[in-house]
Amino acid sequence: MDINRELIEKEMSRPILHLVGEVADALHRECYVVGGFVRDIILQKPSDDLDFVTVGSGIEVAQAVAAKLGKGKATLAVFKTYGTAQVKTKGWELEFVGARKESYQRNSRNPIVEDGSLHDDQCRRDFTINAMAISVNKDNYGTLLDPFDGLGDIERQLIRTPLDPDITFSDDPLRMLRAIRFATRLGFNIYPDTMEAIQRNAERIHIITRERIAEELMKIMRTDHPSRGFMLLSECGLLQHIFPELAALQGVETMNGRSHKDNFLHTMQVLDNVAAESDNEWLRWATLLHDIGKPACKRWDDKTGWTFHNHNFVGAKMIPRIFSKMRFPLNEHMKYVKKLVELHMRPIALVEDIVTDSAVRRLLFDAGDDIDDLMLLCNADITSKNEAKVKRFRDNYQLVKQKLIDIEEKDKLRNFQPPVRGEEIMELFGLPPSRPVGEIKDAIKDAILDGEIKNEREEAYQYMLKKAKELGYTPVK
Ligand code: ATP
Ligand code: MG
Repeated sequence: MDINRELIEKEMSRPILHLVGEVADALHRECYVVGGFVRDIILQKPSDDLDFVTVGSGIEVAQAVAAKLGKGKATLAVFKTYGTAQVKTKGWELEFVGARKESYQRNSRNPIVEDGSLHDDQCRRDFTINAMAISVNKDNYGTLLDPFDGLGDIERQLIRTPLDPDITFSDDPLRMLRAIRFATRLGFNIYPDTMEAIQRNAERIHIITRERIAEELMKIMRTDHPSRGFMLLSECGLLQHIFPELAALQGVETMNGRSHKDNFLHTMQVLDNVAAESDNEWLRWATLLHDIGKPACKRWDDKTGWTFHNHNFVGAKMIPRIFSKMRFPLNEHMKYVKKLVELHMRPIALVEDIVTDSAVRRLLFDAGDDIDDLMLLCNADITSKNEAKVKRFRDNYQLVKQKLIDIEEKDKLRNFQPPVRGEEIMELFGLPPSRPVGEIKDAIKDAILDGEIKNEREEAYQYMLKKAKELGYTPVK
């Protein structure tokens, strides 16, 4: 018995699969578990999503399965328009669909659907590794039906379409992104024919909604090596269609023999560094976007060479537009990414200058609770080929890091709350909400950040009285 047989037998011994088989037998329906679950058995990463294909109505089988599991043990949801049904039961999500044959029209992802055989259904699947099926009927329980050698492609670590890739991708261009997502997640290569077809069909990605595209990008971002996905997107030409701002980072220009670095490759390296340290998907997005302002800020200067002045500010300004284009939420995640993009140079600037307490306090104040993420990004951003330079940066970086800890311990600036509130100032001096109130508040904040006074109530209060007096205000009570 080979290893695959053993793996299949072990996973197929689960009672839920036998139960579905018995129900299908009673209805005289062929029934197969198909797709991701079968692939993941072979990859030894079993999942709890079960997709079943039945020859004939899948909805009826789902209804009978839910009934057999019993009230209170399972929930059933039927989607008549799609001909699918879902059963949820303890630890499992079961999806049922009748085997179908699909034909497509040029301008739509929505196919014309007819009833079909198991083989028809396997033909409409995206990749050979996703087109394997295992029977759950008693007669041939556990038999693997693998018409496109998905098993071989798993061994060869290949993403390949079952049919002519030009047709597969032209029918449903989302599959191009799925190819890259699976290649990234599994560490597989894309079969050359399949890759070339993606290159030829890349432009058709425009018929896919932004939501679907964003969902795939998010899944790529959550893998262990997201950079691989973005490199593949660049290689097959999809990147410029779905993310032109990122594609614009590609390339090197040379003037008078001086070249700047390829900002896309640099970004990929930084993304790898961050992904190795953190699963935080929004930190990963901030990393992907940290230099997004560079193309707009690129200048040649005869004295200093290539510069990208203000690219952090320009980049931060681009974030809301990019997020809304991606249909990402314009919420605190967007603000977080924007903030990190804007601040990503600050710790390094500190490293290059003499590190004053006041500069460290201001950094803490501006970054707030995101200071650790910012420092992680900043450290990951040190990618020079010059080893001496890298070492100098890293040593100074450690210095800044220590200083941040020391100052935070002393001054508690991480979640700065003004020690004297605006309402208090208004009441004390009989002022309406107005500019002087803001000025006094800012003066207190600056005095704290500059280390003139401590971050505490009494010193701040005394300072406030002094400042107000200078500005010509006297208490009304
Ligand atoms: P995941 O672990 O990401 O859920 P999966 O393989 O289960 O992986 P799903 O998106 O859940 O992926 O899809 C289930 C199955 O449906 C796939 O294995 C594949 O056979 C088929 N499938 C999904 N989307 C498509 C598509 N756009 N074109 C063709 N077949 C698809
Ligand atoms: Mg799935």
